[in-house]
Amino acid sequence: MSNLDSLDKIVSLAKARGFIFQSSEIYGGLSAVYDYGPLGVELKRNIRDAWWKEMTRRHDNIVGVDAAIFMHPKVWEASGHVGGFNDPMIDDKQSKKRYRADMLIEQHIHKLEKKFVDDFFDFVNDSNKIKTEKYRKIIADVVSSIEEKVSQVQESYQDSSGVENEVMVSSFNQINKQLKEVDAEFPHPEKFVNQLNEIIGLYYNLLTAGSRKSLTEDLYEIIMENEIRAPESGAFDWTEVRQFNLMFKTQFGSTSTDEDGVYLRPETAQGIFVNYKNVMDTSRTTIPFGIAQTGKAFRNEVVARQFVFRMREFEQMEMQYFVKPGTDEEEYEKWLEKRLEWHKFMGIREENLRTAPHPEDKLAHYARAAADIQYKYPIGWQEVEGIHNRTDFDLTQHAEFSGKKLDYFDQKNQERFVPYVIETSVGLDRLTLMVLCDAYREEEVDGDTRTVLKMNPKLAPTQVGIFPLIKKDKLQDLAHKIEKDLREEFSVLYDDSGSIGKRYRRQDEAGTPFCVTVDFDGVESEGEDTVTIRYRDDMSQERVPVSKLAEVIRDGMKDWKPE
Ligand code: ATP
Repeated sequence: MSNLDSLDKIVSLAKARGFIFQSSEIYGGLSAVYDYGPLGVELKRNIRDAWWKEMTRRHDNIVGVDAAIFMHPKVWEASGHVGGFNDPMIDDKQSKKRYRADMLIEQHIHKLEKKFVDDFFDFVNDSNKIKTEKYRKIIADVVSSIEEKVSQVQESYQDSSGVENEVMVSSFNQINKQLKEVDAEFPHPEKFVNQLNEIIGLYYNLLTAGSRKSLTEDLYEIIMENEIRAPESGAFDWTEVRQFNLMFKTQFGSTSTDEDGVYLRPETAQGIFVNYKNVMDTSRTTIPFGIAQTGKAFRNEVVARQFVFRMREFEQMEMQYFVKPGTDEEEYEKWLEKRLEWHKFMGIREENLRTAPHPEDKLAHYARAAADIQYKYPIGWQEVEGIHNRTDFDLTQHAEFSGKKLDYFDQKNQERFVPYVIETSVGLDRLTLMVLCDAYREEEVDGDTRTVLKMNPKLAPTQVGIFPLIKKDKLQDLAHKIEKDLREEFSVLYDDSGSIGKRYRRQDEAGTPFCVTVDFDGVESEGEDTVTIRYRDDMSQERVPVSKLAEVIRDGMKDWKPE
């Protein structure tokens, strides 16, 4: 886990130090939209550049594009987004707030679960007749089975791939077995058994929603039958459940009608697929080859919270790798491995990273295999990047919808095929959040707490802080000269305000890996001028000749390892 137990400290540090602000804050903010401040924009740019270098410049067969955000509306029909990029929503008529119906039910179940566990422990703690340990164990098993259900529910809705009944029924059977155990041994089981049955019954209904009537009708029925109230207003005054498309639509041209509306792209990938032929025709590429792109994507996320983890406007960095069918599985494994290694190489601590393959029955309609690269955020293990084997789905769909041939002719083997695509797709904002979370430390120093961002020096918004010890011409002149010399190669900041200790702390919070202090000892002693360099991570200091400074910083950057 990062050294944080919630995102709160990152949110406050990000605002206080100018990394990330709420959008339009002076007007009360715009929900799930964020702006990057002076430090944030540098950090984000450094991460983007590092990705670009890794994904394009380090390969002779990967090229870049920068496609427009607006695309022909048919693109989104072909990709399946018009038909399938939906969430079931319900509105509270009193507060006018909109909720995802399945999540509302899930929250209700969580409440019941919490009550069940509280009641159970109250009972156990009250009674000295109960063999506490034994029941604790039983209850822990039951609770963990329930937690498993939660993730099943989430996954099944995320991928809109429906519910695999068999898997679900067998896990319910398992819970029932545990219940019977409680039933056999527990002196007064009825109340608890009933509570658990209610919870399990609700899960069952939620997981099978869509199998009785339609998904929206089944969800509505669950909400009605269980009298689930709106979390904020407490009202029980709902609209019907409706499917809500996550794409933003806008008008195109001054005389447009609703029919010629266009969408803000919900992913950058389609800009690559529709340019596949252009790139093939112009850049003499042969398969396998990749096309990379970074850019904004927009999703009208309903449950948009958790800071820059889930935004309505965000930035993606994607690479689509076109391969010969039959080699796709091997390429998929290779890219999954490579991408995980890259996150480690960027300095994210290994124990906070893992891969999580999607089970086969939970794959998106276009995918043959998919895995998340997950980071242990303060909000738990969450996806930062997705690796997908998209097969020939996208090119085949675009060929059909556009009427253009999008296959590939392999000269050497004289064969024609539609390439398969291995996709690596990472969110730049989630990546930035990951870097901040992983770097964040609070340390006790001389009875004080030092907040420090121990991030990879190559990513740091400011790499070198330069301080004259006090405001004296002699010191300021040399400090300015050093600033000027280093500016070409590193991002530097000159600061002569406040005590030296305060200046160090400010730079610690900004993640600045090196601070250079110019003092009288260095400029007045015999021989060459020297300065003190102070290292962010262990606060050690050393005196170095000014002529060696750039080299020392360069080495410090190269040798850096996460603690
Ligand atoms: P999630 O399940 O978390 O919604 P997803 O599976 O829909 O993500 P993809 O469509 O695979 O995500 O998008 C690829 C990457 O784009 C994700 O791994 C994530 O880093 C980023 N991403 C997706 N949605 C958002 C968002 N709303 N805000 C910020 N980043 C996002």
